[in-house]
Amino acid sequence: MTLTTRDIHAALCTVKDPDLGKDLVTLNMVKDVRIDGSAVTIGIELTTPACPMKDKIRGDIESAVRARASSIGAAIPQISVEFTAQVRAAATKNASNPLPNVKHIIAVGAGKGGVGKSTVSVNLAVGLARFGARVGLLDGDIYGPSAPTMLGLAELTGAIRDEMLVPFEVHGIRAITIGKLVDPEKALIWRGPMAHGAFKQLALQTEWGALDYLIVDLPPGTGDVPLTLAQLLPLTGAVVVCTPQRVAQDDARRAVRMFQQLGVPVLGVVENMSYFIGDDGKTYDLFGRGGAEIMASTMNLPFLGAIPIHMDLRRNSDEGTPLKNWTANPTLASDLDAMCQRIASQISIISVQGGLLQPTLSVTG
Ligand code: ADP
Repeated sequence: MTLTTRDIHAALCTVKDPDLGKDLVTLNMVKDVRIDGSAVTIGIELTTPACPMKDKIRGDIESAVRARASSIGAAIPQISVEFTAQVRAAATKNASNPLPNVKHIIAVGAGKGGVGKSTVSVNLAVGLARFGARVGLLDGDIYGPSAPTMLGLAELTGAIRDEMLVPFEVHGIRAITIGKLVDPEKALIWRGPMAHGAFKQLALQTEWGALDYLIVDLPPGTGDVPLTLAQLLPLTGAVVVCTPQRVAQDDARRAVRMFQQLGVPVLGVVENMSYFIGDDGKTYDLFGRGGAEIMASTMNLPFLGAIPIHMDLRRNSDEGTPLKNWTANPTLASDLDAMCQRIASQISIISVQGGLLQPTLSVTG
C-alpha cells in the first residue's frame, strides 16, 4: 500500500488547532498536499503569523500521518509541514465598515494612566509586525500622545496625500499620532466634542492601506474616546493593561466593564510591571506579581502575559527604538513575543467564533 492524498486528508481531519478547537480541514487551513515518492509535503495556512502553536501543530500532523500510514500498512513517509499565514477577518464586518481594508481593530485600554498602556500598544504593534503581520498603530491618546517619543518621530515630518494623512512608516509599522499634528501642549486641552473630532479624523482620514491589525492606544480611563471608537469602528476586541497592585486592578475592572458595556469583546488582561529582576539575578515582587492574572481569572478573562519592569524597556521607549527590545535582552524579547502571540491567538479565536471568511480548500497530489 502507498499513501494517497486522500489518506493525508483523512489524517489531517484528526488534527485539531489547539487554540481554535476544530480540525485543520474544517478550519480550511490545509492549502496543499503533495506526495513525491516517499516524501509528503503539507502546506498549512495559519490564521496569524504570530501563531504560538506551530510546533504543536507540526508534531500532531506528523503523528497523524504516521498513524495513518501504519494503519493501512504503508511505509512511513518523510513528512514536511510548510506554514504560511493569512490573518482572517471576522465575518461580522459589513459594508458600512469605514476601514474595510483593516482586518482587525484592537483597542488597548487601561483604568488609569502610567500603567504602561502605550508601552504595550507600541510593543504589540512592533511585535506583531516582527512576526510578519501588516500592522498600524493609532495613537489615540489625544490628551497625552506617547508615539512621537516612543517611536522616535521627532525628526520626521508628516505628509498629506489626497486629503488623507500619510502614516509614518517606522519600525515595520504604520503609525499616526496627534502629537505630530498639533503642538503637544495644545493636545492636553481637548474638550469632549473636540476630542471626538480629533480622534475621528485620525482614525478615518489616515491612509492606512491594507492592514492585518490596527492597534489603537486609547487615553487612560473610561472617557469619551473609547465611546467614539466603539461607535465609529467595528472593533474585534480590547486588551486591558494593568499593574499587579490591588488599586490598579480595581481601575482595570472598570475599564473591562466599560468595554463590555460598549459591546466590545475583551481579549484579556496584560500584567505590566509584573516583577523586577535585579542585577543580582534575584526576582523582586515589587507590586505583587500575579495580581492582574488573578483579576483576569475572577472576571473570566484570558490572561495575555506578564511583562517585567525592565530598564531596557523604559530606555528604548524614551529613545524611540522599540526594535531594540528584541535585541537587547532575550528574556524581554520572549516575554513580548509571548504577549503578542497570546493576543493574536485570541483574535483568531474570536474570528473563528464569529464565522470565517475565505472558505477555500485545495488538496492536490
Ligand atoms: P500609560 O500609557 O499607561 O500612561 P506608558 O506606557 O506611557 O504608560 O508608561 C509610563 C512610563 O513607564 C514610561 O516611561 C514607560 O517607558 C515606563 N514603563 C512602562 N512599562 C514599563 C516596564 N515594564 N518596564 C520599565 N518601564 C516601563
